[in-house]
Amino acid sequence: MRHKLEILLAKTIASGLTGHRLTSCSKWAEERRMMGEPFPGPYSFKFFPWNRELHNSWSPYSVCMKSAQAGVTESAINRAFFTLDKLKRDVLYVLPTALAASDFSKSRFGAALELSPYLKQLFVDTNAVNIKRTGANTLYIRGARGRSNLKSVPVSELIIDELDECEPDKIKLAMERLSGQIHKHFWAISTPTIPEFGVHKWYLDSTQEKFCFACPSCGKQIELKWPESVVIVGDRAADPRCKESYYKCTECGAKLNQEDKPNFLKSGIWVPTVAANSDIRGFHINQLYSFTITPGELVSDYLGTFSSEVNAKEFHNSKLGLPYIGSGARITPDLIDQAVRDYSMGSARPRRAGERLITIGADQGKLGTVVVAEWLPVRNAGKDISASFDCKVLAVHRFGDEEIWDRLGELMIEWQALYAVIDADPELNLARAFCKKFDGHAAVTRYRGVKATKEISETERETGAPMLTVDRTFWLSTALGRFKTKRIIVPKDTPDYFREHVCNMVHTYKRIKEDKRDTEETAVAVYVSLGEDHAAHALTYAEIALHRAPSFGSHSLGKIF
Ligand SMILES: [Zn+2]
Repeated sequence: MRHKLEILLAKTIASGLTGHRLTSCSKWAEERRMMGEPFPGPYSFKFFPWNRELHNSWSPYSVCMKSAQAGVTESAINRAFFTLDKLKRDVLYVLPTALAASDFSKSRFGAALELSPYLKQLFVDTNAVNIKRTGANTLYIRGARGRSNLKSVPVSELIIDELDECEPDKIKLAMERLSGQIHKHFWAISTPTIPEFGVHKWYLDSTQEKFCFACPSCGKQIELKWPESVVIVGDRAADPRCKESYYKCTECGAKLNQEDKPNFLKSGIWVPTVAANSDIRGFHINQLYSFTITPGELVSDYLGTFSSEVNAKEFHNSKLGLPYIGSGARITPDLIDQAVRDYSMGSARPRRAGERLITIGADQGKLGTVVVAEWLPVRNAGKDISASFDCKVLAVHRFGDEEIWDRLGELMIEWQALYAVIDADPELNLARAFCKKFDGHAAVTRYRGVKATKEISETERETGAPMLTVDRTFWLSTALGRFKTKRIIVPKDTPDYFREHVCNMVHTYKRIKEDKRDTEETAVAVYVSLGEDHAAHALTYAEIALHRAPSFGSHSLGKIF
């Protein structure tokens, strides 16, 4: 018994002494964190030397634009533990969704505690999924969407994992949790998605650091970058010669052996590439640095990018850790200029109802945005309604939320609009009241998920305020696609914000699980917004309204309203 106690005492003293010198997060991780597969044992930087600095960067803001499997998430987890254990401060760890947060909590944090006896004893209660407490401090694990509750907790360390998947508004909310703290750190990591968005936007304002190391042959400081550092062998994804591909020094051309990576990368350092006197440290790491991904695998993936836009995006985002935008993914200001014709928003109004097919789309908000559009039948029209009409934008307006409903009503009458579609939020009741007033000529709408279909599902018709549920990607792409196919014209005095909002929409792909039960993710087309986008939505709602407009022209209705 005494013997056991002595051992315990000795262990406690030893552990206390170790703890005393664990002043850096990287040293702390090597000592305290145990890992499972694929590199079981104490946490090590051997295969991920770039992560040492990510552990130890305590500038107010740090962001990492990362490829998959770069071990960056483990750095985030270690920082969270270190902050709780050594700095005795609270941590908020944010993931894109509540579901992702609870999965992550169980699989990553849970596994870390299971494997690391030191960590396990640190926490007093580990049963709760979204909150873990040490004696004095708390780790909050929250989703940026859903029942997120990012409001109530003040913390000094904010970690955002997969920043590009989180809603920008929710990030702002999370950042407010840092205010009022003496020590505060914002730390965000993400696979980048599109340029000037999310993590890439942060990176552009940062020190833009690259991981440089001495070439084992010539000794010069180099980095691994695509395609300069790669000798590509093979000419298609399935070509067996791909595996003969290798990395080379960009200075002397010497081959850099994959197996030697731990040796030549171990002395690597992060080097800023812009002389920014910035509070923001930005790191970028790609899969060329990976010990587990071979140059052959990377080259094979690259050769597969020519067959598919999805593969191209995946290669840039997940392999190179770079943002990517496909050709034609955005409407350019130039395309909008080409749509301008010589008429103004003050052009003639209809003389009588039903003489012209005019619809209105309205996007609510602090500033409500309204697009009035006329639909001009084309010859050889087929069955598809959108394909049977060209769009002539008649007017674009913005109104404050106190006046939008009155002004919208006036526009209905002024333009004798046959149908109006208004987004349901934020003022659903006011939108419904408007629809009832123009019974049979207006509906509220909501976007639904990501299954591309043109079907409009209509509910609540009997209330006089029908609710249309539509596919976001399909309808945005139908409406905005008109600029590419030259099926839309706009007045010469179109306000600048219309241009800006339309150009802010970017067509891209996202990997999602379509169903909770799915194990595989599928790539689906989505629109991501780079900024304000109200006019783009108002135009889209006007297009949807075309599909709901009552037949016109053949019979004289007199004034509809
Ligand atoms: Zn060299």
